[in-house]
Amino acid sequence: MEIDRIELADCGSPEKIIAEIMRQVPDMPIPVPIEELAEAVGITDIHRLDTASFEGGLVTQPERASGVILVNSKGSVQRQRFTIGHELGHYLIIAHQPARAGQFTCSKSDMAIRVADRDNRARRMEMEANRFSAGILMPLARFKPDMRNLGTPALEHVFALATRYNMSKEATALQYVLHHDDVCAVIVSKDGIVRRIYKPNRFPFIDVRIGADLPTPSLAARLANSQQSDWDDVNAGVWLALAAEGCPPSLQEQAYRLSGGWMMTLLVHTDQDEEEDGEGGIPDAYDVWENPRFPSRSRRR
Ligand SMILES: [Zn+2]
Repeated sequence: MEIDRIELADCGSPEKIIAEIMRQVPDMPIPVPIEELAEAVGITDIHRLDTASFEGGLVTQPERASGVILVNSKGSVQRQRFTIGHELGHYLIIAHQPARAGQFTCSKSDMAIRVADRDNRARRMEMEANRFSAGILMPLARFKPDMRNLGTPALEHVFALATRYNMSKEATALQYVLHHDDVCAVIVSKDGIVRRIYKPNRFPFIDVRIGADLPTPSLAARLANSQQSDWDDVNAGVWLALAAEGCPPSLQEQAYRLSGGWMMTLLVHTDQDEEEDGEGGIPDAYDVWENPRFPSRSRRR
């Protein structure tokens, strides 16, 4: 793989750098060979260390003549790939400068930062490195067509994409909900406790706290122990705050039991088309019977 770094130097944002790499390497193999890509932009070594003190690190110079990436070897192959992508992000975004001269040290929680205030520079750098990692390992030029070919949202599709891109289910789920044509969200829980919520801005506010129990009427909370996965139409009030007008009367929910008490829940906002078409349309008989709706139910809870 050959990459002309002169062209990358003018790209300020993670997305611009990714677009330029994809322009230079249009036949990028999938899964993306992240170590080969790192070598092509001047990373001379990737050291794997068994350590509890950090998840990833980068030793480099302010002008980025070369760099060495450090990776915690305790993580899964998929996590290590994400970590390499993250450090590569710090390396290629020239504006990123570490607190300690010459070395970035990134923790596991740094790898989870998705939002940052404008004035929190350290946090913004971590957020951008994460965006770079997800974006280069699951480039949208390839990921979007793959997603479309799989059809309407389903967790089986998320898992198939995770395998294809050699990424964790969770990192894939985030990329999936952010970029799917349909409006959907993913909730990750463990032993019935909500751990993480992934959704695009266009998905309505999810009225569930991190650290709280899964809402009891949700499918996720009542999925039988013997079942690995199921779908249900649930009252939108189970997951959303229904104060605003135009809220959907129901959501499609899919719950999927993973190992070790973990569960992934997919919510699909089903009424998007109706909203876009405007109000006052008269549904034909087919629509009425395929998608029966009972608006008054949503106000009972
Ligand atoms: Zn970092």
